[in-house]
Amino acid sequence: MLARRMGRVTASAIMELIKTTAAGEYISFASGLPDPSLYPVDLLREITDAVLAEDGRAALQYGAAEGYPPLREWVAGMLRSRGLEATPEHVLITHGSQQGLDLAARALLDPEDRVVLEGPSYLAAIQAFDSYQAVYRTLPMDAGGIRVEALPALLRERPKLLYTLPNFQNPTGITMALERRQAVAEGAARAGVALLEDDAYHDLRFEGDALPPVCALAANPWAVYTGTFSKTIAPGVRVGYVWAQPELVQRLAQLKQITDLHTGSLTQRVVFQFCVRGYLEPAIRRFREAYRARRDIMLQSLETHLGGAARWTVPQGGMFIWVTLPEGRDAGDLLRRAMARGVVFVPGESFHPPNGEGAPARAGKNTFRLNFVSAGEDAIRTGVGILGEVLREGSA
Ligand code: PMP
Repeated sequence: MLARRMGRVTASAIMELIKTTAAGEYISFASGLPDPSLYPVDLLREITDAVLAEDGRAALQYGAAEGYPPLREWVAGMLRSRGLEATPEHVLITHGSQQGLDLAARALLDPEDRVVLEGPSYLAAIQAFDSYQAVYRTLPMDAGGIRVEALPALLRERPKLLYTLPNFQNPTGITMALERRQAVAEGAARAGVALLEDDAYHDLRFEGDALPPVCALAANPWAVYTGTFSKTIAPGVRVGYVWAQPELVQRLAQLKQITDLHTGSLTQRVVFQFCVRGYLEPAIRRFREAYRARRDIMLQSLETHLGGAARWTVPQGGMFIWVTLPEGRDAGDLLRRAMARGVVFVPGESFHPPNGEGAPARAGKNTFRLNFVSAGEDAIRTGVGILGEVLREGSA
């Protein structure tokens, strides 16, 4: 009875792994979750109370599909500070940025349309594209992001969409260099290819200056940029946003209306009050400081325990480090042996699309992702120590 597109909708291997290892006996570097001890529970309780007391009827009423107008305006101002030309009409408030990715894919993709991805890329976006029956081309990356010399040939194949995560990419932690952003923006605009930029981790920058969004670097009527409050307030509030040209925002809002009518009136007001009362900046600072310290501990631990036996990225922000084992080593095998010792991570194959043409097997067998924010500092040291031991045993 299920529609054909459901054939490609499956449970993610990561979600299954995270579920089975959430019980607490594991040191988990596998999850994609922020650290809940940093969620501003008391502030949110106080603000929710105030919103219900002062604006309770409206906060419990249906609202506009585009979003709560004051929040759209606030987000537009924030996006201008990131370099995007933005008025409230450029902004759609979504149920997390995952919904923005899904709406953009649903609006743009027909079955068999080509989507250009970074190799590797964000799993839940690939799942969204899968549900619209996309086929994939992947762009190789190095420490500076997409290797743009591979771009012209792929763009000549007339893909529909190019999906990029230029800041602290999930899963690799890589940040794309400015001149490459420029090349991607101009290449997509010239080729008439839609651009989908996922900037979920924008504010979690530990060092260096923020770089402009790819969407700000060339005029493209089909550019879509997504962001979220999940990493700077809390993911459970489910408030994210999409930036696009106003005509496209209207089209996405029509789709959103079909999906869920609108994002929660109460949560949008709570997020808005959190921002205008000046709580966002200190919350971001708290996340950044805690995550930077843990990144440093994980990098030191990797040096101590895996030095010479593997390579890894040095992220300037975000939540993830990407480890590459020598050619021929299998991260899946390492995971099985690490799990027996109580440590889990996600093998890199999961982050590659399933049907890259001419590549029936997924790429990235010798790679894996480490989340450096969800385990405590001692657990990071212990867990990486175990990974080092297991890695060495395997090569003996
Ligand atoms: N994009 C990326 C790269 C992510 O890692 C996540 C969260 N795992 C999302 C989007 C979606 O997050 P949310 O829907 O909570 O905004």
